[in-house]
Amino acid sequence: MRDSASRLAYRGRTASIGFAQGPFVRVDAGANGERVAGTLVDEALALRSAIDTASRQIAELAAIAGGEAAQILEFQVALLEDEDLVSAILAAIGEGEPADAAWRAVLDEQIADYNSAPDEYLKARSSDLADLRDRVLNILRGGGGHALRIPSGAVVCADDLPPSRFLEIDWSDGGGLALLRGSPTSHVAMLARARGIPMVVQLGAVPAGSTALLDGEGATLELDPSIEQIGLFEKRREIHRKSRASARAILRRPAASWRGDRIKLLINIQRVEDLDYPDAQYADGVGLMRTEFLLSERGLPDEETQFQVYDQVLRWAERRPVTIRTFDAGGDKPVPGFTPDGEANPFLGVRGLRLCLARPEIFAVQLRALARAAVRGNLKVMFPMVTSAHEVEAARKLFADIVQDLQGKGTAAMLPDLGIMVEVPAAALSIASFKSAFFSIGSNDLAQYVLACDRSNGALAPLVDPLHPAVLELITRTAEHGRRAGIPVSLCGDMASDPRCIPALLDCGLRELSVNVSALAQIKQTIDRLGSGGGT
Ligand code: PEP
Ligand code: MG
Repeated sequence: MRDSASRLAYRGRTASIGFAQGPFVRVDAGANGERVAGTLVDEALALRSAIDTASRQIAELAAIAGGEAAQILEFQVALLEDEDLVSAILAAIGEGEPADAAWRAVLDEQIADYNSAPDEYLKARSSDLADLRDRVLNILRGGGGHALRIPSGAVVCADDLPPSRFLEIDWSDGGGLALLRGSPTSHVAMLARARGIPMVVQLGAVPAGSTALLDGEGATLELDPSIEQIGLFEKRREIHRKSRASARAILRRPAASWRGDRIKLLINIQRVEDLDYPDAQYADGVGLMRTEFLLSERGLPDEETQFQVYDQVLRWAERRPVTIRTFDAGGDKPVPGFTPDGEANPFLGVRGLRLCLARPEIFAVQLRALARAAVRGNLKVMFPMVTSAHEVEAARKLFADIVQDLQGKGTAAMLPDLGIMVEVPAAALSIASFKSAFFSIGSNDLAQYVLACDRSNGALAPLVDPLHPAVLELITRTAEHGRRAGIPVSLCGDMASDPRCIPALLDCGLRELSVNVSALAQIKQTIDRLGSGGGT
């Protein structure tokens, strides 16, 4: 939406606070856009060259990934070498179809065939085909099939951005994200908050520009700003910096407490690098590691790679607890080669633990790595998107068998404490039916499912209110069950990182919160002020 106060200023909604000033880069045009078709010969050559490029890229990825991921990638290479498949596409090109349309039509047909196969293994291969389809399409349309190249510190603008794209961008020199649509409750917004990257969503139509100022607090984007606009922006940024510095001073003080109870504050991480954030050292541990972000276009990391990652986190934590969540792929976190393609309602689909149980060959690799890591520190493992107790028991059995197998081979391994995310309303309502060493409330999904609002649909953002009485009721019930049964309960959804939600969460009976590391200081300050009788 255009802000009338300033000529090229646009106002949206805050998804992540902070300030960014830099080159303005649009990333959605081009790679996914239309291409101009050439002659029949040009189109046939374009197809051959895109297939060669894709084969080369996939072979490189397979060499890096190793193990089962390499097998998945080899399946893709074999398809690209299938002359029957290529001939069918060349025939369509010969009849005047552009290369990209011909490729898509033939691949879509194959995907549908695999999807309707009775054999589960063949069915599962349809997502590998979809991944291959998109890679070649991207190359044909000029995207190169590789990660986006964005100048450092840029204000990146897109219509919307999937989490995988966010992770491809190098944010080490800062920068910001401006989305024309998008939602503050989406996974990409969560990633931006976790990394301290300012992000504004729902900006509406925005023209091209060469430089930009993004104010995550005021939710504004200013394009090609005047000297005066830059001056005002810098003042606002300085005020923000000072208030953060004063909140950070509190981290060195004793633990937060409220009404005589000590409040444990842990952190959420996506990658080992998140632990480099200086505030992380003051946390009581890691309350949530979202391991699905280890999965990328480069494939599924093998057991040794995963073990090294988990071990690094445990070493960082020393004896502090580390809760690692098994892959929560699916929903708005599709993973080529793993998640099913073409689900009508992916948030209600084969996601989280459901997906892992459906793909035991992938799940087993993660469980083996976790079982080996468990002997190295204070590890807890939790399962996401749990609906019923029998899913947890199936996962526990798989895990226990893996531990036994490893131990039988003389490998140091053990079964860690197992817990569940409480994020499906059915789990919260039948909480006593779960055999679980701990519960961690996923308020992002709990709110989405209780309120029937897709968390990534910006049009519903005002309705996705985690303070809705229905959400708070389920949080209270879970906390009460935990207290009665002597089972620890924490909350790791984004509401724990929002100072406005803290009084309600403490009132619900929670005494353990896991927050984005960039919010740790502010949340500790908020609890301290509440504890000493002040407001937020
Ligand atoms: C949640 O749902 O609250 C949660 C912590 O998990 P995620 O945001 O990754 O779905
Ligand atoms: Mg969740």
